[in-house]
Amino acid sequence: MRQRIIGRTQDRVGILGFGASSIHNADEKEARETLELAFASGINYYDCAGSEKRFMEYYGAAHEGVRDQVMYQVHFGADYSGGEYGWSLEPDSIKRNIEADLRRLRTDYIDYGFIHCLDKQEEVDEYLSNGAYDYLRQMQAAGVVRHLGLSTHTPAIANRLMDMGIPDVIMFSVNAAYDACHGEYAFGATDERELLYRRCRKEGVGISVMKPYSGGQLLDAKQSPFGFALTPAQCLKYILDKPGIVTVLPGYAGLADLKAALAAIDAPEEECDYSILAGCKEAAFTGRCVYCGHCHPCPAGLDIALINKYYDLSRVGDDMARDHYLKLDAHASDCLKCGHCDDKCPFSVRQSDRMEEIAGWFGK
Ligand code: SF4
Ligand code: SF4
Repeated sequence: MRQRIIGRTQDRVGILGFGASSIHNADEKEARETLELAFASGINYYDCAGSEKRFMEYYGAAHEGVRDQVMYQVHFGADYSGGEYGWSLEPDSIKRNIEADLRRLRTDYIDYGFIHCLDKQEEVDEYLSNGAYDYLRQMQAAGVVRHLGLSTHTPAIANRLMDMGIPDVIMFSVNAAYDACHGEYAFGATDERELLYRRCRKEGVGISVMKPYSGGQLLDAKQSPFGFALTPAQCLKYILDKPGIVTVLPGYAGLADLKAALAAIDAPEEECDYSILAGCKEAAFTGRCVYCGHCHPCPAGLDIALINKYYDLSRVGDDMARDHYLKLDAHASDCLKCGHCDDKCPFSVRQSDRMEEIAGWFGK
């Protein structure tokens, strides 16, 4: 499993993680086999907001001997007092739930303690002032919570809590549909979402991705806002091309789902090609480099996708991106203006012009 590093904590995380939304559908035996296969395949990051509380018992049993090799993101605000998922801002309820979560997970610590699912400013105001956030910080001071996180679908909320320096990880809903402003959780304009991804990368805040298939809509031509289906491999590649993304967390109802996701994450390059989005007016990514690499190889040896990513990051003040760019073997100033990438880019980006702009920005 390829890994990425969460900048603020230096934790190394597999690019495919384990979402908790569906594993309650498996019986105990299949859940155990699914979790064993996940761990054996290098999945080391596990979300802890599922539809029913049973998934935590599955996690606890499967990870008893390997707890130090897996990471949990646990949600301060997910309420399982009724057995199924509920949402609460109320500090006493949060406290009771966290105590129960720790018992079910058979652990005495939480890798990432999450401010859970805030999408409105008034919810943030309440969470910060009613004692819920104080409880999370107390748990951090006591060493029970190691790092802080936030789950949200709303860029403005992510930005507000990042302004306060709070999250080390943000669980955010990322997929091609939401980025193109289609779907139930498509909050924020395309540019606003892009800027959030860049900001996270710049500030070392890792993004763990929920709803990678837009609740399954993207995999179904009849439901997809684009009028055609994408495959899991295309969806995952699209997401992982974005800056700031550390891990994607699909839900698995059992072994078959997990095997399909493992195959998708390692699919050959041609199966991951999502350039089909380019011709689609609903996608509206035209003229915007999405770092897909479809225009490679460049005869001058430029890594066109990476150069564009470093440029976009540097423009939001990411000094590390500038350093990485300067260390590349070939730079924008080496562009031969051959036009090969202009012809190949499905998203109609004119890289021959852009390379001139990039060379001017970096000075080489
Ligand atoms: S220029 Fe086009 S093909 Fe090349 S990486 Fe950017 S979007 Fe992809
Ligand atoms: S125009 Fe420049 S960046 Fe594009 S393929 Fe040719 S040499 Fe490479």
